[in-house]
Amino acid sequence: MATIFTKIINGEIPSYKVAEDENYFAFLDINPNAKGHTLVIPKQEVNKIFDLDESTYSGLMSFAYRVAKALEKSVVCKRIGMSVVGLEVPHVHVHLIPITIMDDMRFTKKEKLSNEEFVALASSIARNFE
Ligand code: 5GP
Repeated sequence: MATIFTKIINGEIPSYKVAEDENYFAFLDINPNAKGHTLVIPKQEVNKIFDLDESTYSGLMSFAYRVAKALEKSVVCKRIGMSVVGLEVPHVHVHLIPITIMDDMRFTKKEKLSNEEFVALASSIARNFE
């Protein structure tokens, strides 16, 4: 059965997309730790990050690098934190989180955003993505 993230890639479930190419996809986390919290995923459906083949893993990191650069231009923060957990959704995803305080990296601190805020953030990050 397709993962929830594959359904997002295929447009069967809506998302706030920020970037996409042939192999990778990036979209805003629906329950963000901080404004701009973005998930970067390979289109290939693999559960654990270190089960990716090395070139897909490297490509994912390069794509995440470009998304992080766009995030830095779009969100006020001290830096972009990066984390891979994967206990909730069995489809590789890299969390890119604009952080100001250590708590921004804790997945117990959550930010409530309106639809308008999500839309504005996604379009700003997408505009800055190169
Ligand atoms: P992890 O698997 O690394 O623990 O976290 C999964 C992440 O995916 C969580 O931060 C959660 O908020 C996010 N997430 C789960 N379901 C959806 C969804 O349907 N849409 C989006 N945009 N994010 C989701």
